[in-house]
Amino acid sequence: MPKYPTNDDSYRFLFEDADIRGETVILNNVLKRLTASHAYGPGVQKLLGEFAAATVVISNNLKFAGRVVLQGRSDGPISLIMVECSSDGDIRGIARGELETPEGPLNIHLPDGVLTLTIEPETGQRYQGIIAVQRDELADVLSDYFEQSEQLATKFWLSTRAGSSAGLMLQQLPKQRVTDEEKRLDQWQTLCALADTVTPDELIDTDTDRLLFKLFNEWDVKRFEPKRIRFSCNCSRGRSLNAIRLLPKHEITELFDEQQTVTMNCEMCGDSYHFTRNDVDQSEEPTIH
Ligand SMILES: [Zn+2]
Repeated sequence: MPKYPTNDDSYRFLFEDADIRGETVILNNVLKRLTASHAYGPGVQKLLGEFAAATVVISNNLKFAGRVVLQGRSDGPISLIMVECSSDGDIRGIARGELETPEGPLNIHLPDGVLTLTIEPETGQRYQGIIAVQRDELADVLSDYFEQSEQLATKFWLSTRAGSSAGLMLQQLPKQRVTDEEKRLDQWQTLCALADTVTPDELIDTDTDRLLFKLFNEWDVKRFEPKRIRFSCNCSRGRSLNAIRLLPKHEITELFDEQQTVTMNCEMCGDSYHFTRNDVDQSEEPTIH
C-alpha cells in the first residue's frame, strides 16, 4: 500500500443511528494540476488546497446538476482566490495577488476579506452567501457561516500541505431518526469531539475507510460510493472567440491592427487560443453565457 493515498476521491457517509451525515475528500493529483498553471509560492498553494477541499465537500451535497464556487477577495496580499467544483466533480481554481506570500492564517492572506459562496444550478435560481473573514482558519469561517445560514449545525476540518489537501465535514440533518433534542445535541457534540481528535497530517494521510474507523469506530457508519474529482476547465476556443466578439467594433479593429494573431490565455488552466481577424469576421454572432 502506498504511504499516501494518491487518489482524488470524495465520499459521503451517514451515521445510521443519528441524523448526522458527513463528507470527506483527499486531493493529490488534482491539486498539483490546479496549482501548476501559475508560479504559486507555498503559502498560496496551501491556501488553494484548503479552498479546493472545502469546495469539494460543499459541492458533494448538491442535489442537482450545477456547481459551487468559493471565492475570497481582499485588499491584502491575496486580491482574489477562487475554486469551483461541479456536481460531476470537475474542479478548477485560481489565486491572484502576491503569489509568493508566505504561509500564514487566512486573515493574513485576506485581511478584512470577504468570502462569497455561490451555488449555481444548471437551471434555476443561483444562491449566494457572503461571509466576512474574521477567523484564522477557513474551516472555522465556513463552520460559523453554515451554522448561521443553514440553521443546521455544520462543521469543517481542513488540512493542507505541499501538493495535498483534505477535508472532512459533518452536518446535522433535519429531525428524522432522533427526535429527542437532548440526545440530538449530545450526538452532535460527541461526533464533533471525536472528529476534533484528527490531526492535520492524519486527515491527508488516512484513506476514508480507515479515517472513519479511527474516528467513529463505535458508531454505525454507512459509507457511500466515492466520487472522483478531476481537474477540468470549461474554457474553449468558442468562448474565447465570443469574448473578442463582444468587444466594441473599433476595439476589435485596433486589436488586429496591432497584431496579426491575437492570443487569449485561460488563466485557470493555462491553455492558449489564437485568432486572426478572419476567425472573428467569419464567426457566428456572439452569445453571452
Ligand atoms: Zn481553461
